[in-house]
Amino acid sequence: MTIPLDIPTFSDAPFFFDRRNIHIPQQEDARVQEHSKRRVAYYHPKRVGDYHYGERHPMRPHRLELTNQLVLGYGLHERMSVHSPRAATEDELREFHHADYIDFLKRVTPRNAAQLTEDYTKWNIGDDCPVFHGLFDFCQQYAGASLAAARKLANGGADIAINWSGGLHHAKKGEASGFCYVNDIVLAILELLRHHPRVLYIDIDIHHGDGVQEAFYLSNRVLTVSFHKYAAGFFPGTGNLSEIGSDLGKYFTLNVPLQDGIDDESYISLFKAVMEPTINSFRPSSIVLQCGADSLGCDRLGTFNLSIAAHGECVRFIKSFDLPLLVLGGGGYRASSVARCWAYETAVLTNTSLPDTLPSNSYLEFYAPDYKLHPPLTGHIENLNTRHSLERIRIVIREKLRYLNGAPSVQMQEIPPDLMGLLESEERSKEEQEELEIGNGIAGESRQDTSHATTEYMDPESGGLGDGSGFNGRRKTMRVL
Ligand SMILES: [Zn+2]
Repeated sequence: MTIPLDIPTFSDAPFFFDRRNIHIPQQEDARVQEHSKRRVAYYHPKRVGDYHYGERHPMRPHRLELTNQLVLGYGLHERMSVHSPRAATEDELREFHHADYIDFLKRVTPRNAAQLTEDYTKWNIGDDCPVFHGLFDFCQQYAGASLAAARKLANGGADIAINWSGGLHHAKKGEASGFCYVNDIVLAILELLRHHPRVLYIDIDIHHGDGVQEAFYLSNRVLTVSFHKYAAGFFPGTGNLSEIGSDLGKYFTLNVPLQDGIDDESYISLFKAVMEPTINSFRPSSIVLQCGADSLGCDRLGTFNLSIAAHGECVRFIKSFDLPLLVLGGGGYRASSVARCWAYETAVLTNTSLPDTLPSNSYLEFYAPDYKLHPPLTGHIENLNTRHSLERIRIVIREKLRYLNGAPSVQMQEIPPDLMGLLESEERSKEEQEELEIGNGIAGESRQDTSHATTEYMDPESGGLGDGSGFNGRRKTMRVL
């Protein structure tokens, strides 16, 4: 296959059909069997599915509404707490992003766009990241949901928190990129870092999780692992094996560069072979999992061959480590596949078996002609990943993990003032007030970790992660052991 070299952003892979048989979970009449009682919190901003990037744009927020309706149709809302979070405040967005960039996002509208074109280049606004009606509200909603989900985990109010509207991993500190404007993942990780010494970020979107990697490239408190396609001309062009982090963050960045057409068996096998030793070496106190669904077969932009069952198996595997887990969405450009995938993964996370026949819901026509949860998706795109190339990746990653040499540790003398403390109390919802009280109550337990005091881990002079981090210095209140 020829890889076009002149594509500036997302590759536009031709649509392809699947002719391969895949394993489909046995149909069951009823939802069954809870194996463990992990508390799951689900975040869905009310109107997040109503936004439009533009008629011809592949990113369709409507897929979030399809997902939510499928989750409700299957009755999964009865197995978790459901939250409609408030929008993120500008102050919250500025925790990572440049104030001027946030100000631009707030000001720009399709009406005044012509007067602000000078800023377009500066903030990378254009075809990939267009200005559309309600752009800033959209950003505030999906980021608010990820922040609320992170707070819920951090204060011990849930074991697993889900926000399918989040996971916009390409956004940079002062730059929109790859359909992403605000990086809700970075914001959520920063929130988790208030309480958790080490956060592991895992990205199974077909595109490299460059925005998150860059934000924490100098940090050894956040280990990022991205599984993605890495090929000439494919967006965003980063994510080589050789990108490993820098300064204190050296060896705390892992990349798994893959080629077109990877199949279920190879992907799952490699995923487990990389993630198990990574978790055992880094010993994270919480995990953030970005579940971009453009790694599925038949995606409009992606060129992998994964089934929904295989994608979900990665989620199941990470869940099995029983650590506080934040699960986010991401890419995914065939709305019916995205909704099926994320509904299925919601079931995985709530220990629920689903019948393969889709339930009645408002958008049933989107699932024609099969109306199944697990339609054949895996395509016949040529698998360019050889056994040898996958084995090489596995060996190189194992070698890199040896350098971790035990997880870094931190004693957090004081939890930095939460942004919530800066907000007027009347702006807080009742739920947030309660969460704040619970969070303070358990802080003594969650902020201590002195069991692994061998690795110096934070620069007390700089207050943390350096220029790329987004930290504003208040993390100086944490002390290196
Ligand atoms: Zn993607």
